[in-house]
Amino acid sequence: MLIRPGLDQLKPYSVDETEFPIRLDANERATNLPAAVLKDVIARISELAFNRYPDIGIVGLRDKIAKAMNLSRESVVIGNGSSELLAALCYAFGGVGRSIVFPTPSFSMYGIYTKLADSQAVPVQLKADYSLSAEEVLAAAAASSASLILLCNPNNPTGNAIPMETIEAIVAGVECPVVVDEAYYEFHGHSAIGLLSKYSNLIITRTFSKAYGLASARVGYLLADPQLTTILGKALMPYHVNALSLAAAEVVYDRRKAFEPDIDLAIRERQRLIDSLSLIEGLEVYPSQANFVLIKADSNGLAPWLAANGIGIRDFGSAPGLEGCMRITIGTVEENNTLLQAVAAYIQQVKA
Ligand SMILES: *Cc1c(COP(=O)(O)O)cnc(C)c1O
Repeated sequence: MLIRPGLDQLKPYSVDETEFPIRLDANERATNLPAAVLKDVIARISELAFNRYPDIGIVGLRDKIAKAMNLSRESVVIGNGSSELLAALCYAFGGVGRSIVFPTPSFSMYGIYTKLADSQAVPVQLKADYSLSAEEVLAAAAASSASLILLCNPNNPTGNAIPMETIEAIVAGVECPVVVDEAYYEFHGHSAIGLLSKYSNLIITRTFSKAYGLASARVGYLLADPQLTTILGKALMPYHVNALSLAAAEVVYDRRKAFEPDIDLAIRERQRLIDSLSLIEGLEVYPSQANFVLIKADSNGLAPWLAANGIGIRDFGSAPGLEGCMRITIGTVEENNTLLQAVAAYIQQVKA
C-alpha cells in the first residue's frame, strides 16, 4: 500500500475517550448552552431546509461578525472549527520547501497541519516561564525564510498571554502572514484585532467551541485583509460548514451577551483555582488568561488518581517542555470543588 510520503511519521490525534463524570480535559464550556439560547437554536434548526445545500457564501454569519468587528464581509472567513482554518492556512501558505514558525510548547495541531501541508516545522522554544521572545521568532523566521507564523494567544496549554507589543513586533518585523489564534480570547479580553487596519499580513482566528459552548457544531472564524482571505478561500472546499452548525452559530452570535455571566464566572473560578492550588505544597501553578490552568506536580501519580476519582484532565507529563504538567479546564463551581478536594487528598496520601 502506498501512502502519502510523510504521513507514516504522523501519530493519530489521540484523546482519552473515557467518559469521566467530571470532564476538565478539553477546555469546553462547563455546561450546555444557556437554556433560552438553546431553545432559540432548536427553533431555528426546526425551520431549516434540510434538502438544500448551505449558503455557499456563508454571508449570514460573515455579515454578523463583520458588522460587530467593523470590518468588511470580505475580511471574514467561516470554518468548520477554527481547526479547519488553521489547516487551510498551512495549505495556502505552506508547501514543499516552505517553513512554518510556531512556538513550543503550544497547540500540538500546528505541527501536524504543517506536516500535512508538506512544510518544514520551525518550532521556537518558549522561555522557562513560557513567555515568547519576539526576537527569537523573528530570527527563526528570517533564518528559515518562513512563509507563515502561528502564534497562540492566550497560549494552549500553558495559559499565559503574549503581550500585544510582542505580537506587534513580530507582525511588523516580517512580510509573511502571521496568525494569532485567539481561541481563548473571551477569557483574556485583549485582542490583536486593533492591529488589523495597520498590518495587512495579520490574521486572527477565533472559535465558537470554547466560550460560546458550540464545540459540538464545529464553527470558527478568521479575520484578515481581503487579499489574504481570497487566497485562503482557494484552499477550502465548497460547503465546508454545514447549515445546522451555521444556524446554531448565528443564533449564538446574536445572543452572545447571554454568555457573559458564565465567562465572568469562569474567570473568577480560574482565580479561585489558582489561589487554592497555589496553597497546596508540592504543586506549581502557572498564571492563566484562558479557561484552564496548567499545574506541575507528580503527573504520573496525580493524573491517574484524578481519573480514579472520576475527573478527566489533560496530562502533558511526557510532552517536551511540559514535564510533569497537567492542564485542568475550569469547570462548574461544584466540579472545581471536587477537583480541589481530590488534589488535596492526593497530596495528603503521598505525604502519609
Ligand atoms: C480548541 C482550540 C482550537 C480549535 O478549536 P475549533 O474547535 O477547531 O474551533 C484552536 N486553537 C487552539 C489553541 C485551541 O485550543
